[in-house]
Amino acid sequence: MFIGHFAVGFAGKKFAPRSSVATLLVAALFLDVLWPIFLLLGWEHVRIEPGNTRFTPFDLWDYPWSHSLLMSIAWATLFAFAYHLLTRYREGAVVIWIAVLSHWVLDWITHRPDMPLYPGPSPRFGLGLWNSISGTMVTEISMLALAVWLYAHTTSARDRIGRYAFGGYVLLLLILYVGDGFSGPPNSTDEIIWPGIVGLLLLTIWAWWFDRHRVANPAPKE
Ligand SMILES: [Zn+2]
Repeated sequence: MFIGHFAVGFAGKKFAPRSSVATLLVAALFLDVLWPIFLLLGWEHVRIEPGNTRFTPFDLWDYPWSHSLLMSIAWATLFAFAYHLLTRYREGAVVIWIAVLSHWVLDWITHRPDMPLYPGPSPRFGLGLWNSISGTMVTEISMLALAVWLYAHTTSARDRIGRYAFGGYVLLLLILYVGDGFSGPPNSTDEIIWPGIVGLLLLTIWAWWFDRHRVANPAPKE
């Protein structure tokens, strides 16, 4: 899953309006933030295998430190705890915890059975939504549309940056997503590691930038 994780980040703003959407996006994507780093360090491994599922050419045979259920809970707890320590914002910490963990659940729905429960000889799970390209696209694009709508109604643009940098961001996500669906498999894992790290970094800075140019709407009175 790709933009479905971004959807979780955007939707989180409704429940933690004082958190930057950049932080919430990093939380929702956190396991995929760790993944290229762990690949680089040689702690995890991936094989390029066109046709592994219809949607992805990756055989995700070894990624227990970033993508097992147990480690997801650990990362979620660590991230939420650190955030609370820094900000003392309880709602934000709770949303971050749920967002990090949601990654495992969403990947479990999309991946073929390659998601471990814990590092080591764990059984692996996955419902395999990726076996259907249209099913994957409809699911993720609907999720993003709903979440972006929620974010747009939870916040208001203070200026043109708040409006257009936000709109451009969503458009870019959709282009990247659809483009990825039509591009061929990469030639080597190097082609996913560094672009992955740099891409996520840029998307995080960009989200932080437009979120600062939007304000959370006051909660409606009961
Ligand atoms: Zn993932």
